Amino acid sequence: MTGIRLRVALVLIGLAVTSAASDAETVVLKGGTLYASADAAALPDAVIVISDGVISAVGKSGEVSVPADARAIDCSGKTVVAGFWNSHVHFTEHVWHNTGAAPAAPLTQHMQEMLTRWGFTTVWDLGSDPSNTLPLRKRIAAGEVAGPTILLAGNIFPKGGHPVYVPSEVQLPEVATPEEATKWARDWLAMGEDGIKLFTGAFMGDKPVINMDPAIAKAAVDVAHAQGRPVFAHPQNKVGVETVIASDVDVLAHTTPSERAYTDDQLARCKAQGTALIPTLGLFTTVVLDPNVTNRLIAATVNQLKQFSDNGGTVLFGTDVGFTTQYDTTQEVQLMHRALSERQVLASLTTNPARFFKAPKKGKVEQGFDADLVVLDGDPLADVGNLAKVSTTIRAGHVIYQKP
Ligand SMILES: [Zn+2]
Repeated sequence: MTGIRLRVALVLIGLAVTSAASDAETVVLKGGTLYASADAAALPDAVIVISDGVISAVGKSGEVSVPADARAIDCSGKTVVAGFWNSHVHFTEHVWHNTGAAPAAPLTQHMQEMLTRWGFTTVWDLGSDPSNTLPLRKRIAAGEVAGPTILLAGNIFPKGGHPVYVPSEVQLPEVATPEEATKWARDWLAMGEDGIKLFTGAFMGDKPVINMDPAIAKAAVDVAHAQGRPVFAHPQNKVGVETVIASDVDVLAHTTPSERAYTDDQLARCKAQGTALIPTLGLFTTVVLDPNVTNRLIAATVNQLKQFSDNGGTVLFGTDVGFTTQYDTTQEVQLMHRALSERQVLASLTTNPARFFKAPKKGKVEQGFDADLVVLDGDPLADVGNLAKVSTTIRAGHVIYQKP
């Protein structure tokens, strides 16, 4: 007993020393044009001071006092925005296996390729093995691996709904009753997951989609909501979308390429319930080879995004990266821009997820906010593709990606 307590205490002290030492640095970003939020006016020649992982001052050059020992990052000619959220990723690639014990350098390197060089400082992992992802998140928090803040959602599938793209040897929690859904939702959250993801529709290849009974979905939603946790859903088809609405799921994790449009009734109910949408448009360019089919899927999903956004729904940026190996976000922001303004795309990466997921110190570049920042090579309001041209990514005051 004492031995265990002592070891826990030592680990805690170790973490405290690491973070105290590394947070002591003061960093100043100088000379860039700042968009403090997705709807803010441009502030040219901005100065942003970061101390102890927090934004301690923001203003125009000459109007902000900069500590003499601050490390300066020259942002001249560049644009500074809040750190990006990717609300749909997966840490399932082979490199993430055994992340508790794996050497840090390859993990940091892959994190860079997959996420940090695209500006991501917070991500929602919508399905992975928590025995890999929980230790990974711990090592990021301790500063051993340079990466984003990771939030996790535990998955629940309908009975018989093992999606064809998930290897058959992977054990999935399939539930047949509301009681089983309740138990799984409780177990996932007790394990340290931050939310739940339901397969309200599971893709079975040539066979019909398997949908989840709304009463089963509702049982899991009730557990999550009682603990203040969000629920995502993979809808797959129209019935899957209806189940999201009927069971008060919070986030549609994809648009629905098999449907041309959301119905007026679906839009009205999503609005009334405050449902959010992650479009994952680029994903649908990877699922079939025939370019004519791809064009049809994209037209349908862009249309859904436009309907959803015009209706006042919250849009959250997400790519399903980890499931897809398309890490570059250029295509996703360009496809989203067919339906949304540049500012709306920026909002989906910053202010929208911070508000939706109740992270009051994230999503904006303001005094007292977390020092999660992205320095872009060009102005994203002039060309939405500049959202993918990242020069520097900073999380909690630490540079986690620097363009070579
Ligand atoms: Zn996914």
